[in-house]
Amino acid sequence: MATGKINVSVENIFPLIKKFLYSDHEIFLRELISNATDATLKLKHLTSIGEAKVEYGNPIIEVKVDKDKKRIHILDQGVGMTEDEVKKYINEVAFSGAEEFLDKYKDAGKDTGIIGHFGLGFYSAFMVAEKVEIITKSFKDEPAVHWVCDGSPEFTLKEAKKKDRGTEIILHIAEDSTEFLEDAKIRELLTKYNKFMPIPIKFGTRTE
Ligand code: ADP
Ligand code: MG
Repeated sequence: MATGKINVSVENIFPLIKKFLYSDHEIFLRELISNATDATLKLKHLTSIGEAKVEYGNPIIEVKVDKDKKRIHILDQGVGMTEDEVKKYINEVAFSGAEEFLDKYKDAGKDTGIIGHFGLGFYSAFMVAEKVEIITKSFKDEPAVHWVCDGSPEFTLKEAKKKDRGTEIILHIAEDSTEFLEDAKIRELLTKYNKFMPIPIKFGTRTE
């Protein structure tokens, strides 16, 4: 298992981002589903040009809510990420994007007009989650990886057992965001943001 420190200058972006974006927390779902969609369409493209030698099939995106454990799971069957890709795209790119965002909009305050149009990306998960996990397996022949971060710049990264290609994002929902554990709330957001999404989204209460 590896531990590391994301290279950002603020010690803990999470409370800051939360403060500036308090009225727009719900965009996390749009961002994560758009990432899942991108990953799936990317696989579609790679299989069509023969670069990914796997069966594309009929992939879906799944959203599961575990009310007891206060978790939301977002699963896709897209390209997945290798360990190096997690390091590069999550630890470096996604977090620097969040930092840049803060820098740019810290004076915008409640101006949700601006904020709503800004793609905050993966990091928006921390607006509702106190801890985020990524379990991902690339379509490439490499081991699955498990990344965990609690919103501070520290993260852990280790090998995972996941066999199927794709990515699972697990949000450990914070005490002040438990409204997102309600089926009706998630359904409302899915309708609002994802009406015209190209990959089908399945939503059902997690039972295991
Ligand atoms: P953007 O989507 O604008 O590139 P994000 O912060 O949303 O920025 O995501 C950062 C990167 O992390 C993506 O570009 C992608 O490489 C990777 N990523 C995020 N979610 C997934 C996913 N579900 N499957 C595969 N890669 C992902
Ligand atoms: Mg994105």
